Amino acid sequence: MTATPVVVVGAGPVGLSAALALRARELPVLLLEADPEDRERPGSRALFVHRETLALLDAMRPGLADEITSYGRTWHTRRTLYRGREVYSRTFPPPSGRPPFTSLRQVDTERFLRDACGRAGVEFAWNARVIGVRCTASGVSLSCADGREVSCGQVIAADGARSAVRAGLGIPMEGTHGEGFHVVVDVADRPGEELPLERVFHYEHPGVGGRSVMRVPFTGGFQVDLQCHAGDRAEEYGTEEAVRGWLPGVVGEGYADRILWVSTYRFLRKVAASFTDPHERVLLVGEAAHLFPPFGARGMNSGIADAAAAAEAVATGTVADFAAVRRAAGLFNSEAAGVALDHLRPRRRIVRLRQRAAAALAPVLPSCGSWLEHAPYGPRHGAPALAGRKY
Ligand SMILES: Cc1cc2nc3c(=O)[nH]c(=O)nc-3n(C[C@H](O)[C@H](O)[C@H](O)COP(=O)(O)OP(=O)(O)OC[C@H]3O[C@@H](n4cnc5c(N)ncnc54)[C@H](O)[C@@H]3O)c2cc1C
Repeated sequence: MTATPVVVVGAGPVGLSAALALRARELPVLLLEADPEDRERPGSRALFVHRETLALLDAMRPGLADEITSYGRTWHTRRTLYRGREVYSRTFPPPSGRPPFTSLRQVDTERFLRDACGRAGVEFAWNARVIGVRCTASGVSLSCADGREVSCGQVIAADGARSAVRAGLGIPMEGTHGEGFHVVVDVADRPGEELPLERVFHYEHPGVGGRSVMRVPFTGGFQVDLQCHAGDRAEEYGTEEAVRGWLPGVVGEGYADRILWVSTYRFLRKVAASFTDPHERVLLVGEAAHLFPPFGARGMNSGIADAAAAAEAVATGTVADFAAVRRAAGLFNSEAAGVALDHLRPRRRIVRLRQRAAAALAPVLPSCGSWLEHAPYGPRHGAPALAGRKY
């Protein structure tokens, strides 16, 4: 490579996608990552890779979507239960072309992205934690914790929720954080005794004290998401020992030694006040730019859309457009996630009553069951990556 590379900060799914998208435009890329090359990434986190995201990834590296979908899992059955009684069940015919989504652990998605980056000629610098950023009209200089200084014309910052680049630029996050928390558990399948390949959502599951629970398959296992009640304490539900106590009530006995990862999450809805600096040298993408609760699969999917848009903006000199359009998408997604949360963790009694009435009517009015099925994910769950984008 001879030209000055575009620098990407952070080798999460969004930074890796940005690097690929830049290489697809034949721009040289240097990717700075704080962690060592042989790091272990935690848990499954984002499972759901949407069809539109697959299309973006395939444009970055032809064949990548097929690699990912042939590894991931697609279920055709979705079920919803209310207090243990089924209120919705639908099995869709398998699609003829690319599936509407694929489900795999984020560590696996990142593995595919990282391999693709290697093949595309992305230059990686591991153990390169960015601690300072200085932006002028003529360029950017980044300081790393090991004393390294990197100068370039343009930076795509994908350094996650605690973005040092965003902090260095003094760009605040704006939004809210909700009360309470949920517990996310990855569980390995029992070989030969896999649970049915379906996504199941339980309102007020009787096996776990009336808390709502979702089970989502991924390759090799499934993720269970438990919505805790307002007065719950994390140590009662969110430790591995606690999970061993409540998990049988949700998926039956025999999984205590198959727990892969447990974590508790709070509900943040935040969007950066700006997605670029006044000189339009740095572009914020992914969780460096926005934080959404996981329901609705907006985080990684919209982050990859940011990455595609950022690479285009760098290549075409349209950073201001990128910043406006992707921030609008972030605000839209934040709003949609808020609607989902109001349904999932109703603060008003009327919402609970409406859900109860819909569950009672579902056997005779299928639209009530359908509403209970769709509402936990919020509006436009079907297209989280593209909301508000023009790229
Ligand atoms: C339980 C859970 C479930 C989720 N489910 C979904 C889902 O189904 N679908 C979905 O779309 N999203 C989902 N998400 C969200 C998704 O995990 C995130 O949106 C995604 O990880 C964000 O990717 P990112 O690349 O922006 O940031 P990260 O994954 O956080 O990556 C940031 C990278 O930057 C590096 N870094 C940090 N600081 C520095 C620094 N100073 N210098 C250099 N490098 C640095 C980090 O080491 C890391 O490699 C879920 C999240 C959780 C927690």
